[in-house]
Amino acid sequence: MSHAHIDHSGNLPNLVKQGFDGPIHATDATQDLCRAMLMDSAFLQEKDAEYLMRRRTRRKRVMDGYEEPVVEPLYRQEDAQKTFPLFAPLPMNGTMDLGEGLSVSTVEAGHMLGSVSMVLTDGKVRIGFSGDVGRKNLPIIRDPQTMLPCDYLIMESTYGDRLHQDEGTVLDKLADVVNRTAARGGKIIVPSFAVGRTQQLVLLLNQLVSAKRIPGIPVFVDSPLAVNVTETFRKYSNLFDAETAAMLSDDAEGDVFGFSRLRYIRDVEDSKALNGLRGPMVIISASGMCEAGRVVHHLKNSVGDPRNTILITGFQAENTLGRKILDKWPEVPIFGEPFRLRAEVAKINELSGHADQRELLTWLKPIAGGLKKIFLVHGESRQQEALKVVVEATYDVEVVIPSRGDRFEVS
Ligand SMILES: [Zn+2]
Repeated sequence: MSHAHIDHSGNLPNLVKQGFDGPIHATDATQDLCRAMLMDSAFLQEKDAEYLMRRRTRRKRVMDGYEEPVVEPLYRQEDAQKTFPLFAPLPMNGTMDLGEGLSVSTVEAGHMLGSVSMVLTDGKVRIGFSGDVGRKNLPIIRDPQTMLPCDYLIMESTYGDRLHQDEGTVLDKLADVVNRTAARGGKIIVPSFAVGRTQQLVLLLNQLVSAKRIPGIPVFVDSPLAVNVTETFRKYSNLFDAETAAMLSDDAEGDVFGFSRLRYIRDVEDSKALNGLRGPMVIISASGMCEAGRVVHHLKNSVGDPRNTILITGFQAENTLGRKILDKWPEVPIFGEPFRLRAEVAKINELSGHADQRELLTWLKPIAGGLKKIFLVHGESRQQEALKVVVEATYDVEVVIPSRGDRFEVS
């Protein structure tokens, strides 16, 4: 497994539930992050299923005879727990024998804490997997390392059709959004991946508060998962980039993820209490695409007020609530009900953990000459088509866009 993000790890308990019992190789940081994330994911699925079942019971009374289907969570916390004993080592920037003539080599992918790109080989054919390709100069994490040579490459294409617009620095943009919203007395709701993005935002807000560039308004990280994950980040400070390491050694408390107006919220009652608070504040809450978790409740309470800002800081997949907000739908569906979207919608692209088209081409350059074929994954078809065109125009290599269920023989 290349890294811990839920779109890569989230199905593991489901596989285990269906009988998978092989080793799951991942770096130490990825394993630790996954333990927290998969428990959280299972918990959220249990809660969502309960919520939908309660609503079903309510509606059944109203709708007289019509029955919505029974909702079962995809997996439960006990399924997540059965996954953890299968975790097996994967080096960060090293080579490892997997037995049966196979070995795997990894390099830092620069996408999130513990993320790697890798090459798997039987001594004859080398199959590369990009994982998610990161970017230079992201907060906290180190830059991507040069990819290892391989014969076939399975490559991500999330931003295969676009270039990141890096206008001004992320600190300037974040300061503007906070100051503008605070001036009108609004709340800033930041849907964020609990893992990675939240820690980056906290680090940046810490810098802005220290530099007195934003007012000392309360900042809440409302996610039990983010609390646990931030502990894991503290544990793996050896993986930080040079800037964050320097910040850490300068910090009086030795904690770059804490400052006086910042509160981490674990308890659900404390989370609900945030709805009653008035005045400007920042609420960072998961999930990143607004599909589940506490942020959905905060959005329900905030989208209708033009003083508030919904700050989008990450990729929003098609058909997610996050995407609808980003596309400024006049009404957005929350828990199945329509809500008028009157809050400001702001976007900060600079924290994107994914390389854009140009960065993907640069990442590919050192190994492109030796490649027999590239398989594009992890992108919508528009991105894949666009990336295929530029990669084939730039390098002499065939690019394949596989469909679900396709099989390929490699030699
Ligand atoms: Zn990822």
